[in-house]
Parts: sequence; structure tokens; C-alpha cells
Amino acid sequence: MGKRCSRCGEPSITYIRYSGESLCSEHFKDFFETKVFKEFRKQVDLGKGKDIGVAVSGGKDSIVALNMIHEILKERRDSSVFGITIDEGIDGYRPKSLKIAREEYKRLGIEYSIVSFEEEFGHPLDEMLKLKEVCGGKPCSVCGVLRRWLMNSVAKENHLDMLATGLNLDDTAQTILMNFCRSDMKKMIRLAPHDKVKEGLVPRINPLRKVTEKESYLYALTSHMEVHEQECPYADTALRGLYRDVIGRLEDNTPGVKYSILSSYEKIKDPLKEKYEDGRKLGRCAECGEPAMNERCKACEILKVIKG
Ligand code: SF4
Ligand SMILES: [Zn+2]
Ligand SMILES: [Zn+2]
Repeated sequence: MGKRCSRCGEPSITYIRYSGESLCSEHFKDFFETKVFKEFRKQVDLGKGKDIGVAVSGGKDSIVALNMIHEILKERRDSSVFGITIDEGIDGYRPKSLKIAREEYKRLGIEYSIVSFEEEFGHPLDEMLKLKEVCGGKPCSVCGVLRRWLMNSVAKENHLDMLATGLNLDDTAQTILMNFCRSDMKKMIRLAPHDKVKEGLVPRINPLRKVTEKESYLYALTSHMEVHEQECPYADTALRGLYRDVIGRLEDNTPGVKYSILSSYEKIKDPLKEKYEDGRKLGRCAECGEPAMNERCKACEILKVIKG
């Protein structure tokens, strides 16, 4: 006979190694939602209401984040959820995820906006990458900069107070460790959730950052959510994959290590900010008017090369 749920004795569907609990489907759902709701409340002071954007790719984490935030805000008249989906223009990959995102918005009755690189920047990503070599030929660098620019501008157009992503604990622990290993403290202090950001930038929150990738997957599966499981053909997974393996091996040996990486970061975040935060105000990009460190923002630098 399989294991029984530690809370009710029904057959369990999962064993949470770091807490030593076996959980049935119902209690796993409780466990997961309690964690996400608690983390959301820690990151967001709903106060007199907030309008929250959710960046939805159609993958499991973003679909789960959208559902959780919808669940928290659906009874509140003073707050709202708004979905933002970016169509970068990646053939054979993005169309299916767009369909899933659109259907989920409709099913939940959530207002949304789907914006494409092609409409906004004149070319889909596939085409941009063929036209010119930018960012050392790294597709994710081009895509990441343009997508962040577009997300921020759509969030502002829709007067959103903050933008939620579906980053989970695995993603977060990998990013923290990667920044440590590169000694990139400036990036480290800019990681979301943001309590304050420079003028012109919409703060980001990560309500799933205390649930593991496996838990997010299991939640999507047991809640019968339709999610996009394919990986982007440009995904530069080599380096991140290495960190995933290393943390996975540490976790096998010492359950709970992903949490420890995150909580160590939390303990040093404020002193790091004091030392490394630069108080400079961001200027305005001469081309698009969005916040920029230099004369032009990174997105306009890339577009200038692409458009020749
Ligand atoms: S994997 Fe890279 S290219 Fe693909 S969607 Fe993500 S950032 Fe863009
Ligand atoms: Zn149970
Ligand atoms: Zn610009």
C-alpha cells in the first residue's frame, strides 16, 4: 500500500521531503495555496486596492500565478488583475502558448493585452535574429531586453501598480547563486520582489518564489490547468542547467537547501543595498522616453542596430 497523507490518512500523491509530510491531493492544494497566499501578502500591501498585471507566457508557472492572484483578488472591488502576454514571434513555439494564455484569460474573465514584437518593433524575433547580429548573437539577450521594455510600457499604459511573474523557488535559487558566482551585486540587489524602484519602472513581484518547480507543476496538474510545456527553441539552458544540477544535488543531500539559499539572500539584501545601491536617478531615453542609464535605453540600442 502507498503512503498515506500525514494530515488525513487518505492516499497521498506527494511527499514533501524538506518538511517530511506526505500529502493527499486536497491537502497538497491547501499546502500550496497557503504558501503562495502568504507570500503574496508579504510582497503586496493591498491597502486601498491594487491593479496588478501578470506576465503570462502560457507555461505552468505563469498560469498558476494568474490563477492564484485571480483567486486572491476576485472578491475585492478595489483591486484588479490584468494579463500581459508578449508574442515575441518565435515560430513553432509561441503560437500554441498564446492560445493557452488567451483561453485562460477568457475562462477566468480577466482583461488582457497580447502585444507582439512585430507590431511594436517592426519584426518578429525570428526575423531580427537573421537580420543582424546583436548582443553577441545571444537570442535571449535580445528577447529579454525587448520583452522587459514592452512589459513595462504596457503595464504603464494600463496604469498597473505592479507586475507579477511566475518565477518559482528553483528559478530564484539559481539566479541568486549565479549572481554570487559572477559577483554581480548590482544585479543581486535589483531582484524582485521590489519594494521600491526607480521612477518610470513598474515594480515586480514573485508570489511563487517559495514554491518549488515540482510543486508548481503538481498544482497545475492536479488543478487540471492547461499549460504549455514545450521549451523555447532559443533557450540558452546550458549555464542555468548547470546551476539546476548543482542545486539539485545539494537538495538531494540536504533537503531544504533551495530555501536556505533564498533566506541567506534575504538576510544580506539590505546591507548589500546600502553598499551597492546607486542613488542616481534614471534619465529618459532620447528615442522612446522610457527610463535609461545612458542616452538611449538598451531596447533602442538594439533596435538601432537591427534597423541599421
Ligand atoms: S528562452 Fe530566450 S528567446 Fe526564448 S522566450 Fe525566453 S528569453 Fe526569449
Ligand atoms: Zn489529506
Ligand atoms: Zn528607448
